[in-house]
Amino acid sequence: MHHPPTPPGPVPSIRLNSGFSIPQLGFGVWLIDPSDTSNRVSEALEVGYRHFDTAPVYNNERGVGDAIRHSDIPRDEIFVTTKLWNDQQGGDKPRESLLRSLDELSLEYVDLFLIHWPVPAQDLYLHAWEKLVELQEAGLVKSIGVSNHNVDHLDRIITTSGRQPALNQVELHPAHQQRELQAWAASHDTKVASWGPLGQGQYPLLDTPPIVEAARHHGKSPAQIVIRWHVQQGFILTPKSSKKSRMKENIDVFDFELTPAEMQSIHAMNLSDGRGRVGQDPAKFNDAWVPAI
Ligand code: NAD
Repeated sequence: MHHPPTPPGPVPSIRLNSGFSIPQLGFGVWLIDPSDTSNRVSEALEVGYRHFDTAPVYNNERGVGDAIRHSDIPRDEIFVTTKLWNDQQGGDKPRESLLRSLDELSLEYVDLFLIHWPVPAQDLYLHAWEKLVELQEAGLVKSIGVSNHNVDHLDRIITTSGRQPALNQVELHPAHQQRELQAWAASHDTKVASWGPLGQGQYPLLDTPPIVEAARHHGKSPAQIVIRWHVQQGFILTPKSSKKSRMKENIDVFDFELTPAEMQSIHAMNLSDGRGRVGQDPAKFNDAWVPAI
């Protein structure tokens, strides 16, 4: 399938500690059916997305790669992230996993490779990180980072390796704002990326008064308000939707600005002590559980 050339979108780029840049807003493909993924990613490319977030455990890397290959868009204009799953952290498995992902994606490199979860009971994430450094030096991946790592995991990685992850992709949305990680990131060269940026539709985020009021004020949808709240804090995010109309909506957030008072009213939605969490707790998630897609 061929796509009409899309003019460079208004999505800002964020420079990572590797020297490479990442489009701040991208498209996530968790829970997109493997057989639909190529079509959904083609639609996302048409709409203007140039950053895609996948993982072997999503079982849809092939669809992401097919859509990229069938588009007219040069490889170096597209940013692809994949991850290392929990039972692949030991020995030479990080390398084997990346080579398998490159094969699935039909790509020669990925832009970003993340340790998906620290799995503290296994205590292999330091080893996995050393392997990621080697893979970056071999040119198979441009930037390396982590996901779901708490401050203690990050500190151990940096103390042991002397290298800071380019970013840490964590559950982050108005009910679960990760204040401790945000404070940590402010004094490190590790960016914050939000997964489940819309709360995965699992709690009534989009019906909450501060968001509904801001939406009315700006003539935008509640989802656009939440995405804009992430953008204004400098977070990197990849909201997911299978509907093309929502893909368009979710990227159309660069023509307005939330006021300080609106930002503040959304900050106030945070629930402390992990009560707003919709996913797993990284300190306790210790198995190689595979989600049913
Ligand atoms: P999300 O917060 O992006 O929520 C997606 C859901 O929100 C959709 O299924 C839909 O129900 C709803 N939605 C989307 N657009 C909407 C709109 N405009 N209006 C109303 N509702 C809308 O959750 P997610 O998909 O879990 O997170 C985004 C991406 O983050 C994933 O696809 C994946 O790439 C990544 N992720 C990473 C991890 C990790 O452990 N590293 C975990 C979960 C997700």
